[in-house]
Amino acid sequence: MSELVIAGGRVIDVDGERTADVVVGADGRIEAVGEGLTAPRRLDAAGCVVAPGLVDLHAHLRQPGREEAETVESGSRAAALGGFTALVAMGDTDPPIDGAAVVREVQHLARGALCEVVVAGTVTAGRRGERLAPLAEMADLGVRIFSDCGPGIQDDAVMRRALEYAGDLGVTVAQRGEHATLAGGGHLHEGAWSTRLGLAGIPALAEESMVARDLALARLTGTRLHLQCLSTAGAVELVRAARADGVGVTAEVTPHHLRFTDADCAEFDTAYKCAPPLRTDDDVAALRTGLADRTIDAVATDHAPHLPEDKERTFDEAPCGMLGLETALAVSLAASGLSVAEVLRALSWAPAAIAGLEDQGGPVSVGRPANLVVFDPAAAWTVEADRLASRSHNTPLAGCTLTGKVRHTLWRGEPVVLDGEAQR
Ligand SMILES: [Zn+2]
Repeated sequence: MSELVIAGGRVIDVDGERTADVVVGADGRIEAVGEGLTAPRRLDAAGCVVAPGLVDLHAHLRQPGREEAETVESGSRAAALGGFTALVAMGDTDPPIDGAAVVREVQHLARGALCEVVVAGTVTAGRRGERLAPLAEMADLGVRIFSDCGPGIQDDAVMRRALEYAGDLGVTVAQRGEHATLAGGGHLHEGAWSTRLGLAGIPALAEESMVARDLALARLTGTRLHLQCLSTAGAVELVRAARADGVGVTAEVTPHHLRFTDADCAEFDTAYKCAPPLRTDDDVAALRTGLADRTIDAVATDHAPHLPEDKERTFDEAPCGMLGLETALAVSLAASGLSVAEVLRALSWAPAAIAGLEDQGGPVSVGRPANLVVFDPAAAWTVEADRLASRSHNTPLAGCTLTGKVRHTLWRGEPVVLDGEAQR
């Protein structure tokens, strides 16, 4: 039985673009796609894009352990408002997701979420980078992506063993590569601005040397590797060359690394402090080129909620990271230089494929789960930090007017967001 029709939108998916109505059935699946369709309930999509829901490969939901900053529920609500129907929740919680017990706990919390919450485990026990966590035990519970977060696994032999074991299990190791010793406790990109502001910098080489090592280990082990948060031109070039040479690697970039540079740190505003740090104009240009030529597969938010009292510390003491889920689509549409369809590839079907999520990112066609986003690519809106669904408000976009607004999000056929408002 049909439940609702999304009427008159521009449907964009992996198969292309057409104007069509989309009927969603009571079973949460797409029942019909065509012209002149009707259903008991009608959602107007005139002037809007209708697409597979967005998929975030990289979100920090802070639960368990830092529920005052974010929870699975509040983070998933922020995601739904941003058009996401799935996200991968990172394992750097407290305690970390490094075994079956915490995996089960977060999977249980995910039952109350407003989108599919996919649990990522850590690669090493306690995220200490010394010995592997019980990956098989977590894989048995459905975990497919493992990441230690932070600067990643520093010990070469531990990283090699992680890739070998992940290859045996058929799971993916995701890593943001940064040599901790080269990063040297820096606070922003090492360059003209770090010198001018008198703050210790993080050289591009800290990332590039680790990316080079990880690509070499991916080649040695034959295991597919996912690189998180590329931020430098040199890292993009390393990935491009490795892929051309047949290394199994995928990569992501954040919306903020496509939009901002280290110059935005000029006023010591800690909202811009993130890891890896914001880089230079040349790096931003290389990231955009890498996304356009598909060296970089996906845009991922690295959504990182922090309490005001933490972000209000001085620049050298404040924690790294910013919110991303509610603004990712609009920032990507403006900052990537890509067409709407290419932005959707990077935010929906490419990340769905990397995460192996069969119910996400697929074509808008009969029988598929109705995980859909409806957004107006021309609608302007102003980011009001204290009105965001996230429990935290740390975004440098507060007060900014963005173009591209999510109108409706459907998850398994349920309208979790209607006219820009979360429904639960
Ligand atoms: Zn992260």
